[in-house]
Amino acid sequence: MSCAADLAEKGVPVEVLEDQPEVGGLAESFDWDGFSCDLGPHRFHSNREEIIDHIRKPLQDNLHMRDRMSRIFMFRRFFFYPLRGSNVLRLPKLVMIKAFLDYWWMRLQLVFRDIPDDSFENYVRKRFGNTLYKIFFGTYTEKTWQIPPSQISPDWAGQRITLLNLWDVVKKTLFKPKNVPRTYVSRFHYPKTGGIGSISRGYRRIVEEHGSTVRTGTRVTGVRVEGDRIVQVTSTCDGTSRDESVETVVSTIPINRLVEMMDPLPPAEVLEAAKNLKHKAIIFVYLKLDREKVTDDHWVYLPEGHLRVHRISEFKNFSEQTCPPGKTLLCAEITCNDDDETWNQSDDELTEIAVKDLSGIGLFAREDFLDSKVKRVPYAYPLYDLDYRDNLQVLIQFLKKIKNLTSTGRQGLFRYGNMDHSVAMGARVARSMTTGSGPSHAQVAADANESFD
Ligand SMILES: Cc1cc2nc3c(=O)[nH]c(=O)nc-3n(C[C@H](O)[C@H](O)[C@H](O)COP(=O)(O)OP(=O)(O)OC[C@H]3O[C@@H](n4cnc5c(N)ncnc54)[C@H](O)[C@@H]3O)c2cc1C
Repeated sequence: MSCAADLAEKGVPVEVLEDQPEVGGLAESFDWDGFSCDLGPHRFHSNREEIIDHIRKPLQDNLHMRDRMSRIFMFRRFFFYPLRGSNVLRLPKLVMIKAFLDYWWMRLQLVFRDIPDDSFENYVRKRFGNTLYKIFFGTYTEKTWQIPPSQISPDWAGQRITLLNLWDVVKKTLFKPKNVPRTYVSRFHYPKTGGIGSISRGYRRIVEEHGSTVRTGTRVTGVRVEGDRIVQVTSTCDGTSRDESVETVVSTIPINRLVEMMDPLPPAEVLEAAKNLKHKAIIFVYLKLDREKVTDDHWVYLPEGHLRVHRISEFKNFSEQTCPPGKTLLCAEITCNDDDETWNQSDDELTEIAVKDLSGIGLFAREDFLDSKVKRVPYAYPLYDLDYRDNLQVLIQFLKKIKNLTSTGRQGLFRYGNMDHSVAMGARVARSMTTGSGPSHAQVAADANESFD
């Protein structure tokens, strides 16, 4: 949407085809009886003033700053997230002693033999020792990804854990660091009203004000390629199919789905790579509660293996105006695959899982629960398994041959980007299309070596 808005402003006619009823993708919001709902916690942060200015255009004065608060809940107590040295001191005594012994044991082992950074598990174990790895990273990661952390690429850890080791955590706790890693950024932007989706809806307004079109509820189903160009895009809306010839295409469709819809189909090895790139789905269960607030946190991680919910967020803490007074809304996240048993459970069953988990650990009482809503999102996380890089390279090399196509954004590059990265990528694509110059949009993704969703 940032790309479309910039192009429309510069007088380039644009047509946006969006599958969903509203624009925004993973950063959409919807209204539910006066409660504004995002897809999990969405804080907007960028170190670059030009990116903040970019979202000021669609939001105008509908923007405020928040002081980030997020914690981990386990052993029936809260721990700070991002990790602080004091977290270790809050662990049950025996666990704490084991954590320290394990950490120093690992340091000693590393003097004699290196452990390769060849998986998420090794990357973190090596830096934090076995016990802290399991408590703060391993269980949560396995629960979220549903594959053993030994099968997850170290890229995921590199992008997610910005700390070198436990000693780094202690230093960050005691001394204020000069360059604050993204995970530690404490202030962020958020719209006062309308949820995070106000950004994309604002971009939509700009596109339409400049005479361009946004067609929602319109799914792209086919892409006709002739030589090194896309010549036609087929889409479906309300059961009616439509073919349109195109000049240039910018796609944020998941990269593997895009190649699968090409006509003629790409070679077998490209299709094989597309099939092998996997995503994780998330089910968002929204719980309306008859109480003022549950926590002061924007979000809380729930790593314990006996809970199906892995994180909750409370939108009221992003903006008071997201909820009617006297009530609050929690969003509980459950990861799964988009064809598995959990995905196919009924809304009532999923609600019961969330209510049981969260009331069971004392976050609210069952009597507080008023109503629920369930939303299933198939392409939530690109799965960084050990082969993802090779598979992705095959697709990127193949798509490079198509001269009037830019596959970008989180899905188009299969990359853990954040909203600011997507906004920046869109703006860069627009700039290079209108001026033929500027750094590549993919560079934004390459620089995006930290993520927090
Ligand atoms: C749970 C969660 C929490 C997050 N928290 C944060 C956060 O706190 N801060 C942050 O900066 N980022 C966060 N993110 C990441 C952020 O949501 C994404 O980086 C950003 O929204 C990606 O935008 P995008 O446009 O690149 O991709 P997407 O949002 O995935 O948009 C892709 C769009 O393409 C459309 N589409 C796909 N296929 C078709 C088709 N065939 N036809 C037509 N349209 C199609 C989709 O409907 C969608 O609108 C979070 C993500 C998740 C899942």
